[in-house]
Amino acid sequence: MGGHVDQKLIKQLEETCSARGVRLTPQRKRVYELICDSNKASSAYELLDQLKVTEPQAKPPTVYRALDFLLEQGFIHRVESTNSFVSCCSFGEHKHYSHLLICDKCGNVVELQDDILIALLNSNVEKHGFQFSNHVIETHGTCQTCSSLEESNK
Ligand SMILES: [Zn+2]
Ligand SMILES: [Zn+2]
Repeated sequence: MGGHVDQKLIKQLEETCSARGVRLTPQRKRVYELICDSNKASSAYELLDQLKVTEPQAKPPTVYRALDFLLEQGFIHRVESTNSFVSCCSFGEHKHYSHLLICDKCGNVVELQDDILIALLNSNVEKHGFQFSNHVIETHGTCQTCSSLEESNK
């Protein structure tokens, strides 16, 4: 599973945090690395198990606090329908919404960004005088890799 985390990404994470004056603790960094290292969305408990390899004393709140921080800073997204986490493709942008394609077979998540879709959602929401806090746009199905595997197994 996964490979080597891109060190450029980690460097970018460190630089963004110091530019914003927020503290990147070793646990926060480690949780981010674990999320990037996995090619599917990770649940908090999967992350805890992985974190325990290097930090045996890690507890659920350790992971939840790290996840809250990473979400707040826009480094990761929560996949609401499966309560798991993926890294964000547009690094650390505050208040950015995206459309997630979630493969139910392999758990792979692809992030799409469509400004027109978001603008449309915003204008629909405004028409109702609604103060939104978050958009969740998730599509479930079978990814290209999994569906071509199914094809070849027929
Ligand atoms: Zn994103
Ligand atoms: Zn798949």
